[in-house]
Amino acid sequence: MNQIKKVLITKEGRKFYAGELDKDIHTQYGFIKKEDLNKAKEGSLLKSNTNKEFFIFNPSFIDLYRKIKRDAQIIPLKDIGLIIAETGINKKSRVLDAGSGSGALACFLASIAKEVITYEIRDDFIVIVKSNIDFLGLKNVKIRKKDIYTEIDDKNIDVLILDLPEPWKAIESCAKALKPGGFIVSYSPSVPQVADFVNALRKNENFVYLKTAEMTEREWEVEERRVRPKSTGIGHSGFLSFGRKVT
Ligand code: SAH
Repeated sequence: MNQIKKVLITKEGRKFYAGELDKDIHTQYGFIKKEDLNKAKEGSLLKSNTNKEFFIFNPSFIDLYRKIKRDAQIIPLKDIGLIIAETGINKKSRVLDAGSGSGALACFLASIAKEVITYEIRDDFIVIVKSNIDFLGLKNVKIRKKDIYTEIDDKNIDVLILDLPEPWKAIESCAKALKPGGFIVSYSPSVPQVADFVNALRKNENFVYLKTAEMTEREWEVEERRVRPKSTGIGHSGFLSFGRKVT
């Protein structure tokens, strides 16, 4: 995958990415010379040949994350935020995630957790996950080619997140992998999936059910005194259900 060496942001907040710095970067606002980009200090301002100004940054984790390959539907940032906040994932946490899909959730969580183990059944997705791990330079992600419904050999997991079609089928194997007090989280786009997962979790004596929630993020326009919600609608992503392992 192409590397990203610099991030360019216009005063209006439009972003451009520069790969290898051996050639000039061309944008719709003109081009910036490679010599200028190579010399630019973090946060400094450069002008293109048409006098458009750009702030120049070295890419941070989130800049790179936004450029990862995505094939399966990846989980949006707003939902990742709720998972982290509700489960308290931190630098001591061992996290398990299934299925990997493009590895977006696994990679984001790896940037804050001690270790992330990600399960996926499809080889084509595993190739994408590997390339994203490599692109982000992560060293703490393990990929397992396994069906989470039947095989988990990992134990002592703090947080386990399911993003797959039939999460209720994974509850038994998740009970073996999680440590007491550990969290099980299920992310599903549709209501019948939530019902089947939560009903199964409630019936299982290894878990206590906590809650189901949906995150709504509404962006606002701020132009002088014209301050109001953006007119584009709020899309739906998925519901998050949380439970906790007992004993
Ligand atoms: N959370 C991911 C997207 C997951 S898409 C991201 O943010 O990128 C769902 C994935 O689950 C698919 O890649 C699918 O192949 C995988 N999957 C489906 N059933 C599975 C199972 N039983 N075990 C492991 N992975 C499974």
